[in-house]
Amino acid sequence: MSGATIIDGKAFAAGLRARIAEAVPAFSKATGRVPGLAVVLVGDDAASAVYVASKGKATVAAGMASFEHRLPADTKQEELIALVRQLNADESVDGILVQLPLPKHLDEQAVVDAISPDKDVDGLTPISTGRLALGLPGLVPCTPLGSLMLLKDHIGDLSGKDAIVIGRSILVGKPMAQLLLAENCTVTIAHSRTRDLKARVQQADIVVAAVGRAEMVKGDWLKPGAVVIDVGINRLDPAKGETKGRLVGDVDYASALELASAITPVPGGVGPMTIACLLRNTLVAAHRRAGLADPEGL
Ligand code: NDP
Repeated sequence: MSGATIIDGKAFAAGLRARIAEAVPAFSKATGRVPGLAVVLVGDDAASAVYVASKGKATVAAGMASFEHRLPADTKQEELIALVRQLNADESVDGILVQLPLPKHLDEQAVVDAISPDKDVDGLTPISTGRLALGLPGLVPCTPLGSLMLLKDHIGDLSGKDAIVIGRSILVGKPMAQLLLAENCTVTIAHSRTRDLKARVQQADIVVAAVGRAEMVKGDWLKPGAVVIDVGINRLDPAKGETKGRLVGDVDYASALELASAITPVPGGVGPMTIACLLRNTLVAAHRRAGLADPEGL
């Protein structure tokens, strides 16, 4: 029997969502309106449509306004950018999220660049990225923000911890490394060209895996007592004899339980934190745009 604590992201996210919902009435009292999140979906990708629907539902459940914009797959770049500009100018919109990936003919970076940094609840614009690197107030990508919340809730002070982030994407790996650095961790960023990954992981008190490769990080890679945040979401292929297309992380969960002191499960770990942090970012953006202090405890 392992003694690893299972970090319950689902429960933590439910608590965060409840605190967000509790903070909305005070905002409405001060401003005479509710915070609003606009989500833009281009095309008919089934997975993206599911994400957009669940974001809309969670937004409304928190007492905020949800504006969904569904555009056809053949939408032109100028049309999409015109919509983003219209949302930038719309006073009832505090957060803008363009669901990625976009159809191939569209220039994702140009579309993201058009989002006002003050409404950039995904934290992906160059200004948001720069603010994070500079340590200035800004909006931080939801998945790494949620991962950091789980770590701080479990460990407390992260100062001086050795952390490894496996993956260097703009969405997860890089902002995660910046957040850990800001918490005074000593941070290693690993990627596909990293040599002897196992030896590096073995040095780390905190392991964040954001790779997209099913069960790549094995239990015997871990330093005894490591805290593991598994960001990966991989669906095993039933056609290859894998169990019913079940979801697994980037960490081999069963073997990791042997040495880790705590680990996030997949599903039910980091995943639920992402939408909760999107709501959090929308509420924070709304406060800043209205000239109010950030809501406390979020
Ligand atoms: P990307 O594909 O953008 O990035 C993957 C990263 O992993 C890259 O930096 C890549 O390195 C690195 N990598 C690939 N192979 C290896 C390897 N063998 N050893 C070490 N590093 C490697 O993915 P994302 O960052 O967008 O997502 C990562 C995972 O997190 C995915 O499973 C995704 O589904 C999941 N995810 C989960 C979310 C949630 O809400 N829980 C939200 C977002 C993502 P290089 O840069 O050299 O190519």
